[in-house]
Amino acid sequence: MINIALLGATGSIGQSTLSVVDLHPEKFNIFALSAHTNWQEMLRLCNAYKPTFAVMTDERAAEQLSSQIQGGTVVLSGAKALDEIASHEQTDYVMAAIVGAAGMASSLAAALSGKRIMLANKESLVLAGGLFMQAVKDNNAELIPVDSEHSAIFQCLQGGHSGLSKIQLTASGGPFLHTPLAELETITPEQACAHPNWSMGRKISVDSSTMMNKGLEVIEAHYLFDLPTRSIDVVVHPQSIVHSSVYFEDGSTLSQLGNPDMRTVISYAMSYPDRIISGVPALDLTQNSPLEFYAPDFNKFPCLRLAFESLEKGGSAMGTMNAANEIAVSSFLEGQIKFLDISIVIEKTLEKARHFHPDTLDDVINNDLNARTIASEVVQAYA
Ligand code: NAD
Ligand code: MG
Repeated sequence: MINIALLGATGSIGQSTLSVVDLHPEKFNIFALSAHTNWQEMLRLCNAYKPTFAVMTDERAAEQLSSQIQGGTVVLSGAKALDEIASHEQTDYVMAAIVGAAGMASSLAAALSGKRIMLANKESLVLAGGLFMQAVKDNNAELIPVDSEHSAIFQCLQGGHSGLSKIQLTASGGPFLHTPLAELETITPEQACAHPNWSMGRKISVDSSTMMNKGLEVIEAHYLFDLPTRSIDVVVHPQSIVHSSVYFEDGSTLSQLGNPDMRTVISYAMSYPDRIISGVPALDLTQNSPLEFYAPDFNKFPCLRLAFESLEKGGSAMGTMNAANEIAVSSFLEGQIKFLDISIVIEKTLEKARHFHPDTLDDVINNDLNARTIASEVVQAYA
């Protein structure tokens, strides 16, 4: 039995992970679960999966859960408890599916304790990619991407990097691919969250609509596959059937295809190097014609440009960009700023924040906090 600590159990990736676990009860055991505030859903999950530990990072939610829970599950509270379950000696695999910078410390704790990390929380790599990859290496952790593009590239690189010339991340282009720039002015949170192909949490849905998601993924790919910016390319592919491609110098290109459903990606991370059923039906190419590909529009989607620039600049720029994006997206979702202000908040925060090279986790955390303060001030100017 493989013991899984599922961080972010109540989210979109969390739910898909549980649905794959449901198909393989003889292989996987839910050892620990975490959620932030939704203790009612956590109570339901504890009754169904009987984990050893349930973490509610919000302390009041933890009290509510404790008062209602029956059976042997131990309820822990606070962010530190995430590190505890991620590094627990009985934990085999950690599904890192918390959204945002809040997921970084526990992903790192899993790396430091040599676990298999199934990494959905791309923000961990954007914030602390260097430290994170070093921790993976030093502790013989196994890092398997849980992002459809990176899983595709990981699968295409099973033969190694020999002759690799570039990787190409596909981007759906989000809900506004064909919307004229002038109409983006009045986009509402509901429109931004209505992704044409993928059903996801609200933050990543907004990131997809601004194409910041692809920007974060370029940085994620840089660290995961140890490639320079010039070897990472983006192509818009509205059907989300080709999940990404790897180009080799002999003229060969390998791509991974499938229906846009994260259960394929999650089951691969859980079963690697084997494959198991995921509940996703086989792809029918005749039902998905034509497959289209376009160059990305950096003018219409300035967030993608900002991500490439931050990666080139290196150091604290990526963490600053990520923090500013989180503040800008939540301000947009709360109706404080407009859709087109998101990239402006990020760009202004990048201009104002001090640029340096974070050497320690404390540096990363301080930069994140500092950038959030700056971004919140910029938001006030627009609200
Ligand atoms: P979601 O919003 O649906 O779920 C987020 C989870 O994180 C919830 O369980 C929530 O309780 C928890 N959480 C939120 N804030 C927290 C905090 N401050 N502290 C601790 N826990 C907190 O998000 P999602 O769509 O499942 O995405 C999760 C991660 O996976 C993100 O990093 C996202 O970029 C990545 N990802 C998601 C998809 C997808 O299809 N949904 C695809 C690729 C990558
Ligand atoms: Mg992705």
